[in-house]
Amino acid sequence: MSDASFNKDYDLFVIGAGSGGVRAARIAASYGAKVAIAEDYRVGGTCVIRGCVPKKLYVLASRFHDEFEDARGFGWHVAQPHFDWPTLVAAKEKEITRLSGLYEQTLANSGVTLIQARASLAGPNEISLSTGQKIRAKYILIATGGGPVAAPNIPGIEHGLSSNEIFDLPQLPNRLLIIGSGYIAVEFASVFTRFGVKTHLSFRADQPLRGFDEALRAYVAQGLEDAGVSLYASQPPKRIDKREHQFLVELEGGKKLEVDCILIATGRKPATQSLGLEAVGVKTRESGAIIVDAQAQTSIPSIYAVGDVTDRINLTPVAIREGHAFADRIFGGKPTRVNYDLVASAVFTTPEIGALGLTELEAQDKFSNLDIYETQFRPMRATLSGRSEKVYMKLIVEADRQRIIGAHICGPEAGEMIQLLAIPLQMGAKKEDFDATMAVHPTLAEELVTMRQPARRHRKI
Ligand code: NDP
Repeated sequence: MSDASFNKDYDLFVIGAGSGGVRAARIAASYGAKVAIAEDYRVGGTCVIRGCVPKKLYVLASRFHDEFEDARGFGWHVAQPHFDWPTLVAAKEKEITRLSGLYEQTLANSGVTLIQARASLAGPNEISLSTGQKIRAKYILIATGGGPVAAPNIPGIEHGLSSNEIFDLPQLPNRLLIIGSGYIAVEFASVFTRFGVKTHLSFRADQPLRGFDEALRAYVAQGLEDAGVSLYASQPPKRIDKREHQFLVELEGGKKLEVDCILIATGRKPATQSLGLEAVGVKTRESGAIIVDAQAQTSIPSIYAVGDVTDRINLTPVAIREGHAFADRIFGGKPTRVNYDLVASAVFTTPEIGALGLTELEAQDKFSNLDIYETQFRPMRATLSGRSEKVYMKLIVEADRQRIIGAHICGPEAGEMIQLLAIPLQMGAKKEDFDATMAVHPTLAEELVTMRQPARRHRKI
């Protein structure tokens, strides 16, 4: 369809002003496209409003708990520290309002029209707005993200909250049960226990963080226990009963808990409800995720999708990269592909973890010969503070080519370290490249270039 013969209001209409949608809109507009973006909530999406950003602020707040304790060993005497939850919630709110405003400003500066309304598909090139308006666009990009999955089928589960609500609790509960052991569950457990909340983590696996390297899973479990979290592995809740202002929870296996608040953190799912996908013929998977090809194109050629709504790698930087690549390809004439190999991720527990590439078990499945380098040590800070904290690092080396194919870290600043490791690993670094790199002393990261002897060798004859 040539532009001249096509009667349109916009070149691009983006549904959802989160990380992926805003980036795509801004870049498309920079190439001269006429762009509108619809958002029915606050501009910024999950990451800014109720995900990465507020979560990290809460993580930083929680870590003062440890800092005050550690300070004593270094000669500092801090008078009775006291944590005030409403102060943090208000400060967080101020910051995300500022960031949301910056996103709006960026859209305006880029010439993108922001429409505060709910949008759904009315055709391959047509959008209906909750205001009753109909809009035509040459291309439509769906970037609606995700939301909490339906709660597990447990009697009384309706009393639980999702991470959306937990950020803004009017007051801190005395006792909290978190259900699940994925990213959100362990991060919130690590945060709330440090705020002085008696925190229970009930989950169905034998260790938290399924899918991560087994060593990291064990370190995270230990870290949570050390911080006062009670872990109930292989004991998901069986029933929940409300008693006045508290809840009586029975776990599988019979353990009973009394708590004041319940957080359900059992995963997130693509936000595709009432988008009109089926009527227009956009194909989805059973989970509701929009099916796209490597170009982010759906089964309808004029309609594209990026980010969590496609349920591939559900991380903000991935959505941003997908949105940018989409705009480059369609409006910038640049055939950009997104590289999904070696996507690093961090879990902001305390201590935090950073993971990149294959786990040891995955590597054993895939390669015959492996050398596993690992180290565990006490960080310098813990020596004077007396904390039992340990740092753990593992490098997985494919022995035949000596390529590093996995890196796993648990300890302070693991997220920062894994970000930097992603560069050499992306470039195909070999173990000898790490060995040839001079250490920076005294740092935690120097251990990554000073591991000389494999802790284990896996060989398949
Ligand atoms: P995850 O997919 O990480 O974890 C889901 C958890 O819920 C698992 O422990 C899972 O158990 C459990 N679960 C699922 N269904 C049930 C059930 N029916 N009964 C009991 N337990 C159940 O989801 P999250 O909600 O923690 O996070 C959602 C996504 O958000 C993540 O995948 C991630 O992409 C993103 N995120 C990223 C962060 C980061 O980068 N730091 C931080 C927060 C979120 P099991 O292990 O047994 O399957």
